[in-house]
Amino acid sequence: VAKGEGKGQWRRYLPDLHTAIVERLELRTELDQAIAGKEFTVEFQPIVELRTGVTAGYEALVRWNHPHRGRLLPGEFIEVAEESGQIVAIGTEVLHQAVAAAARWQREAGDAAPYVSINVSARQFRTPGFVSSVHDILTAEGLPPGRLMLEITESLLLRDDDQVWEDLTELRTTGIRVAIDDFGTGYSSLSYLRHVPLDVVKIDRLFTSTIASSAQQAALVDGIVRLAHTLGLQVIAEGIERTVERDLLSRIGCRYGQGFLFARPLTGEQAITVITEQKVAA
Ligand code: C2E
Ligand code: MG
Ligand code: MG
Ligand code: MG
Repeated sequence: VAKGEGKGQWRRYLPDLHTAIVERLELRTELDQAIAGKEFTVEFQPIVELRTGVTAGYEALVRWNHPHRGRLLPGEFIEVAEESGQIVAIGTEVLHQAVAAAARWQREAGDAAPYVSINVSARQFRTPGFVSSVHDILTAEGLPPGRLMLEITESLLLRDDDQVWEDLTELRTTGIRVAIDDFGTGYSSLSYLRHVPLDVVKIDRLFTSTIASSAQQAALVDGIVRLAHTLGLQVIAEGIERTVERDLLSRIGCRYGQGFLFARPLTGEQAITVITEQKVAA
């Protein structure tokens, strides 16, 4: 704040701050109602093999059907839900809905059915009993563990917690795959990741969106993909919007990707329709 205008600045700032705090509190109350009233749904964005365009799986993305504000994206509520812990209840609901959807795909398409990939917040993952709840849901819905991928964040790994390591190992032992989401945006390096029980690296959209205009970024992605493959990890590039990005990624050796170029997130109904049609076509 510049000298002389300090007081005026604060007068302008405080009401804004007050409004922001009140809005967050209101959001929390509304989230409680949303959890109780089952206002959350899940959409599914295809994860495709870049070379062939064939869909390998779908990422489950939560949406909130707000009674007054319409359909809200996670950017409008996930942060507050993380802070309050409500993300645990929301995450459980997403897990139920997404696993149920994938079980239906499996019944429709059999061996050709795509997998489902579900975002798990650090707080949800650390909740005691998380791993067994995942197994319980798979059993209840009849989805083979090999059809489930869980997307975790770097923040989960940062605290270097033995329990997290054990849980990741146990999940993978049963055939569930684990992906690190938004790779490259945090602090961990791939050389660090080689110790983590992981199957898949999802390269953040930040890299995808700059790969075509910066040789340096392209070289960086090339390095990430090579190292990941050396470590036996699969790579998925996020946020592919242009063919030039897809082609560069494909040339680099990145096998999978997702983004608006291929498809926006689909409703559950749209996803089942596509999956059923593809089965008929095959
Ligand atoms: P994410 O896991 O990295 O998911 C990818 C996000 O990028 C999605 O946004 C997706 O719609 C968007 N996206 C996909 N392709 C493109 C593209 O080509 N261009 C652009 N600009 N964006 C693209 P969405 O659905 O708004 O989700 C945002 C974030 O919210 C997710 O990022 C994830 O971190 C979080 N999230 C979503 N669903 C859940 C959930 O069920 N649980 C938890 N804990 N977090 C979730
Ligand atoms: Mg994700
Ligand atoms: Mg991501
Ligand atoms: Mg992302």
